[in-house]
Amino acid sequence: MIATGIQLAYLSSAALFVLALRALGQPTTARRGMQMAAFGMLVAVCATLVDQRIVSYEWLIVGLVAGGVIGYPLGMWVPMTAMPQRIAFSHAFGALAATLVGVGEYMHGFHEGTLTYGKTVALGFEVFFGALTVTGSLMAFGKLQELLPGAPITFRGQNVFNLSLFAIGVICLVWLVVSPYDTAFFVAILAIGLAVGVLMVLPIGGADMPVVVSLLNSYAGLAAVATGFALDNNILIVVGALDGASGFILSMAMSKAMNRSFANVLFGAFGAEAGGPEATQAGASGEMVGIDADDAALRLAFARRVIIVPGYGLAVAQAQHQVRELADLLEKRDVDVRFAIHPVAGRMPGHMNVLLAEAGVSYDKLFDMEDINERFSDADVALVIGANDVVNPAARTNRSSPIYGMPILNVQDAKSVIVLKRGRGKGFSGVENDLFVSPKTNMLFGDAKQSITQLCVEVKQA
Ligand code: NAP
Repeated sequence: MIATGIQLAYLSSAALFVLALRALGQPTTARRGMQMAAFGMLVAVCATLVDQRIVSYEWLIVGLVAGGVIGYPLGMWVPMTAMPQRIAFSHAFGALAATLVGVGEYMHGFHEGTLTYGKTVALGFEVFFGALTVTGSLMAFGKLQELLPGAPITFRGQNVFNLSLFAIGVICLVWLVVSPYDTAFFVAILAIGLAVGVLMVLPIGGADMPVVVSLLNSYAGLAAVATGFALDNNILIVVGALDGASGFILSMAMSKAMNRSFANVLFGAFGAEAGGPEATQAGASGEMVGIDADDAALRLAFARRVIIVPGYGLAVAQAQHQVRELADLLEKRDVDVRFAIHPVAGRMPGHMNVLLAEAGVSYDKLFDMEDINERFSDADVALVIGANDVVNPAARTNRSSPIYGMPILNVQDAKSVIVLKRGRGKGFSGVENDLFVSPKTNMLFGDAKQSITQLCVEVKQA
């Protein structure tokens, strides 16, 4: 009776997770999607807590308290701009849990003499993917948090070495299945998994870390599926599969938005050139021309069409509320205001959508790159706020640029361009930007929040 109840609860949480993923695909329903997913997780956790295989609740309570104490500050206080490293950190914990469960189950099966072939496959797989996700995620966290050098660390024959080590891990896994009580192979799988995680992330530059984090998310999902098979737990299998598939799709989508092949992200050591002298000095010959806030405000106030292009700097400045106020003020003056959203603006997919939604910018004002690119030529002003790489014409024109081929917003087609940034800092990829020295462009230097606040004051008086 209890067992049936648990399975029914698992079925309803699985349905909630699928519906949540669907709702997360649209900005208008994303919030509901998160609530559904959280409720689904609550149902799954409560159902698991009544499982009769639980021998003692003491350690569960310790785990719940420790998880709550660590998770609450992570969720509440880590800023949006640090979200990729926070996610990497969480993946490391999730994968550590899967790995420890795998080790525990193997030891239990070893002593009880219950290691079947099926169970050993699941445990070996779980420990291998779990271990590489732990170290891979910690490496990604270190690079994103700048605790480790962001530039790729490469050595001769690296890809062959890494793939060979991976292959040895797989051979050990096969061997363990043939001989489940040979613990040396189990330990080897664990050690090789930990080493592969480190080696896999070493040659990948900081600029590609969000793709790696999402791929590690996929690996953590695969480890969860294996845990589900090992523990005979259906919800872990379903959730792991959803996690594995969505992480993989997201990695592919990010690579596509940067016009990079998946293999190039994983094996291309992108960022080595970006940090190098040729890349940083290439292009951008000419002087940047500044503009005062009052002149910029006049240009905006008397424009007919303005396209606002938000980027990572908007998130750093936390200027989303000010930008909404500016858009409202311009609209009151009958200016047509739209926001152009590049798929990889910011530091994670949907970063700009989340930021602007938080400030209450209506969804129908947000336009994806493919929907707005044609409209730049009609815009009197393109107002670039803390965006750099996603508006860099070098992605189209400079074959030697590390971002060559990445689709960009057609900002340079607008009649005039005003760029808000603090100084001459480069974008995430570390390359110069010709847009800033174009005769059409004026630079309004300063922190985006302060600059937009000034623009609002001046527009009110215009
Ligand atoms: P970006 O290229 O990183 O440039 C951000 C700009 O914001 C900088 O040039 C900086 O210049 C300026 N800035 C920083 N703080 C500011 C502040 N307080 N006020 C005003 N300006 C400020 O940003 P992006 O154009 O959004 O491009 C995103 C990059 O991330 C791309 O290279 C993309 O490939 C990469 N990426 C994104 C994702 C994703 O999912 N979104 C995933 C992987 C990689 P100053 O220092 O001079 O102010």
